[in-house]
Amino acid sequence: MSNDAGPEQVVRADVVIIGSGMGGSTLAWALRDAGADVLVLERGQRLPVEPENSDPAQMHLMKRYRTAEQWIDGQSGRLFDPGVYYWVGGNTKFYGACLPRFRVSDFEEVEHADGTSPAWPFRYADLEPHYVEAERLYRVHGDGSEDPTEPPRSGPYPYPRLEHEARVAAFADSLASSGLHPFHMAGGMDLDTQEARVASTASDGCPDQHGHKSDAENRALEPALATGNVRLMTGVHVTRLEARGRVVRAAFAEQDGQSLRIEADRFVLAAGAVNTAALLLGSVGADHPGGLANSSGLVGRRYMVHNSTFFVAVDPRRRNETAWQKTLGLNDWYEAGPGVPYPLGNLQMLGKLRTPMIKAARPWVPGPVLDFMTSRSLDIYLTTEDLPRRENRVRVTRRGIAVDWRPNNLKPHSELVRRVTKVVRRAGYPLVFTQRMGIETNSHQCGTAVAGHDPATSVLDADCRAHDLDNLWLADSSFFPSSAALNPALTIAANALRIAPRIAG
Ligand SMILES: Cc1cc2nc3c(=O)[nH]c(=O)nc-3n(C[C@H](O)[C@H](O)[C@H](O)COP(=O)(O)OP(=O)(O)OC[C@H]3O[C@@H](n4cnc5c(N)ncnc54)[C@H](O)[C@@H]3O)c2cc1C
Repeated sequence: MSNDAGPEQVVRADVVIIGSGMGGSTLAWALRDAGADVLVLERGQRLPVEPENSDPAQMHLMKRYRTAEQWIDGQSGRLFDPGVYYWVGGNTKFYGACLPRFRVSDFEEVEHADGTSPAWPFRYADLEPHYVEAERLYRVHGDGSEDPTEPPRSGPYPYPRLEHEARVAAFADSLASSGLHPFHMAGGMDLDTQEARVASTASDGCPDQHGHKSDAENRALEPALATGNVRLMTGVHVTRLEARGRVVRAAFAEQDGQSLRIEADRFVLAAGAVNTAALLLGSVGADHPGGLANSSGLVGRRYMVHNSTFFVAVDPRRRNETAWQKTLGLNDWYEAGPGVPYPLGNLQMLGKLRTPMIKAARPWVPGPVLDFMTSRSLDIYLTTEDLPRRENRVRVTRRGIAVDWRPNNLKPHSELVRRVTKVVRRAGYPLVFTQRMGIETNSHQCGTAVAGHDPATSVLDADCRAHDLDNLWLADSSFFPSSAALNPALTIAANALRIAPRIAG
């Protein structure tokens, strides 16, 4: 089957959005009443609602919902299983719904241990009204009064904070008694009762069949489709775009072994930072020999993912019965200041770890040992900013997608782990196990087509439109000029809401 041989079917819309994850679905929602015929193309299918959704063994050992696709580690040449999911709703079907805003400093130029984190082409204040809307859409629960780094808000969180369960509350008390400022983490989970928490306990990493978790499908795409102005085609794998001069004419896709040509006035890529870059790089044509939107040579470059560590603290004497653990955050070392020479990053809780999650990474450890450990562990996630580097990049090779990633800014990450080890031991957890995550843990991927003012040093303008093309926008995390050290999804959503009026025209 070759697109050049003549596609069998032609589809038309005013606006085509490629990818139905956080960026694509939020944008579809924002365009639902724009007077345009909006078509969302998604390579995945609807994720079935079934008991296996929340079974960590199905998810992590049987890899029930994972793609069979493998990517190439550009450094070693070995294949790896990427941490991406191809379903309607994208990675948000599996995410932990931690939905913080980025800090004011994340939009500014900041000095880090390993160099400079660049400024964004717009400021926090420009995004603030859209954060408000995104928090409403994704039902974010939080408390803006506790974290000293909380950016200015034009109103309170739309939903009250999720309270800590006993073990997390005790940890928060211990942190506070050390002079730190633990806070209630912003999250898009509707967990009014303990029963709801127990039912959705696996939702950081697993889909949530109970609907307690706000994801891109249930909160944005479904209401958009309900208007009748937005259409969704599933199982449509877009393989390239075709452009003449400054205009994208068509997207080519495969669906059930059939070729499709999709024509539209405006195209939006929201396939996730790696796939979006791969699509642009693969869309080589006479007018765009280096791939689409790539006159700067930056498409695929400046790939970032966060330096992250899974930090497991165990007190062998006490069981941890917490059902929903992701209620606490700590940003005391997020920005430089007294006793913090450079930014170290963020501490937040992981969803409660269970044996199958660790067994997948440590198959040789006997199950009963893991059961003992996970039933007593407090599970923490540490992230430090990964700085943009030209040489960290996505490439398209004959064998498939290759990712060259050499992590940087590791010294502050080690310092964050050291400081957290200290406070965790003080909180009564003598045993600490840490695992720094590698190239497979790319859930926070971003930066492969950065936005900026100068076409020589960026791929997109400040409205996320390609400098090189009049009708192509990017609405996923590929536009991020820097990775910050916080979860990206709310910022992706807020940005999609920000650029929607420009796309609506
Ligand atoms: C286990 C896990 C936990 C996470 N926890 C959090 C969290 O707590 N908070 C947070 O902020 N973030 C979290 N994330 C990250 C978050 O899910 C992503 O940042 C976010 O979903 C990215 O949005 P996106 O629109 O850029 O891409 P995605 O959500 O990945 O969506 C991209 C979509 O494009 C589709 N697609 C790809 N290629 C093509 C193609 N060629 N043709 C057609 N369709 C295509 C994909 O199938 C997918 O549906 C987590 C991720 C994972 C995996």
